Amino acid sequence: MPIKVLDPKVVAQIAAGEVVERPASVVKELIENSLDAGSSQISIEIMGGGVSLIRVTDNGVGIPAAEVGLAFDRYATSKIASLDDLESIQSLGFRGEALPSIAAVAQVDVLTCTAGEGVGTYLSLKEGAIAARRSQGRSQGTTVTVRNLFRKIPARLKFLKSVATENSHIANVVSQYALAFPEVRFSLSIDGRVILRTAGSGRLVDSIVEVYGAEVAENMIELKETTLMPRLSGMVGLPKVSRTGRGYLSFFVNRRWVNSRLLARAVEEAYHGLLLVGKHPMAVINTWLPPAEVDVNIHPTKSEVKFRNENAVFGAVHRAVRQVLTEQATVPEARAVTKEAIFPLPPRQPVPAPVTEVGYSPPTPPPTPALALPVLRVMGQLDNTYIIAEGPDGLYLIDQHAAHERVLFEKVQNQRLKKELEVQGLLEPMTLEVSPRQDAVLRAHYTDLAEFGFSIEPFGDRTFLVRAVPALVYNKDWVGIIKELLDSFSEVDKGGWVEAIARTIACHSAVRAGQALADAEMRELIRQLEQSANPHTCPHGRPTMIHLSSGQLKKEFGRT
Ligand code: ADP
Ligand code: MG
Repeated sequence: MPIKVLDPKVVAQIAAGEVVERPASVVKELIENSLDAGSSQISIEIMGGGVSLIRVTDNGVGIPAAEVGLAFDRYATSKIASLDDLESIQSLGFRGEALPSIAAVAQVDVLTCTAGEGVGTYLSLKEGAIAARRSQGRSQGTTVTVRNLFRKIPARLKFLKSVATENSHIANVVSQYALAFPEVRFSLSIDGRVILRTAGSGRLVDSIVEVYGAEVAENMIELKETTLMPRLSGMVGLPKVSRTGRGYLSFFVNRRWVNSRLLARAVEEAYHGLLLVGKHPMAVINTWLPPAEVDVNIHPTKSEVKFRNENAVFGAVHRAVRQVLTEQATVPEARAVTKEAIFPLPPRQPVPAPVTEVGYSPPTPPPTPALALPVLRVMGQLDNTYIIAEGPDGLYLIDQHAAHERVLFEKVQNQRLKKELEVQGLLEPMTLEVSPRQDAVLRAHYTDLAEFGFSIEPFGDRTFLVRAVPALVYNKDWVGIIKELLDSFSEVDKGGWVEAIARTIACHSAVRAGQALADAEMRELIRQLEQSANPHTCPHGRPTMIHLSSGQLKKEFGRT
């Protein structure tokens, strides 16, 4: 093909890809514009996962009639005029790319009115070009309506996940901004149902109540304000409200919602020794720095930042979080669990055998044992964590939790297929409150959970009624299990999700490390493991056992 300059429409669509990856990116850009316009009220309406409709209405300063068209030109912005302005940037936007990018991949209408104008302006764009324009009344503020997102770009549309997943990303974006701007009243409705509404009281804890629920909010503690640079504010969770995923860390730099591995690490390290293995803290942290100390222009989505002095920021966050945690009286409640082998086992790969005088070295031990497990005789328990057993060919050290997880995982999967799951009804139905993000997933997928014995039905705004749970988890923290599953949803596809349900149920119902087991219990567990189709690994892929063959033992003791 000869070299040609691309058609401007194609250029616009390619460029739009950098800013608008999915419906939630549109929501993020529109909210940022509303916040930059000084709005105290922002409402967001979503239909069809954001593909059919995204509408953001605010009561900000509005766009003057003469500038409405210009706002859709590439690199047209009212927020900076020169590169120097970036050094003192206060606004969330500055690249002048969002509106033209959105208009390149969707149909956009805007209705806006400023304080000085008697009447507002309506503008409609199709394929990036103005299709209609007229005067129309409205109070001060702006409404941007985006329809048929990616309709003309099948490649993009194909990459979108289910409506529930896209909704959950949208709910997350709105939740984050609700946390960053507690003084703004946010409302989010998805397919006609309001799933998040904040009061705009200006108090972070009120936003936390709306986003994560009252129970979490009660267990969050406030960071102490410091005058040092960077200034920090926000709240962090007590170790007991920790979560299984990292999705509960919110960072805002000069009120910009950012992804920052540096900040995440600073917080995680501050919790060192306070959380169980695999648990992550909850935190909402605002970092305030002079704009010149942070570069916000390293990515088109502006969601990553670079600090001029990373060490200072890391240290300040780490110290501030650690300080409030150690001051908390309840902290000793948490117990760090480390699962270190206390038995000085030889390395799993046998060390080369000493060469004897005649240069003979023993034959290499047989390869990894076949998948099936031989019949084992239980000899005892080590450290309340490992079962010691003897087999026809040596010693087996079995991780009781991992082994039980494997057994339960297969049991749950089989029972689900045969529709024979043991279900335990609750004495009284219980209401389950979920976050906006979790709501989006649960509403669409509670029937998948039903296949595993969770009888859950929608009850009201972000509330569900639970009537029964799998018998296995009846006495466990099944609310935690459900929430953990909902949080993991967007990371897996449908097949992976069903497996994740089985895995999570198994993990939470299995015996723990540190739990003393009676001989009969150990024998039963081993008997079940012997029957497993895949006894050597737990459902997460970790080994369930270490096998030392008689040959390896002899070699270790130098008896060749
Ligand atoms: P940027 O936010 O980077 O300036 P955008 O493409 O998002 O670029 O918006 C272009 C311009 O349109 C903004 O600079 C602003 O002047 C105006 N604008 C967009 N949305 C709003 C809104 N909700 N209220 C007032 N002005 C707006
Ligand atoms: Mg913008």
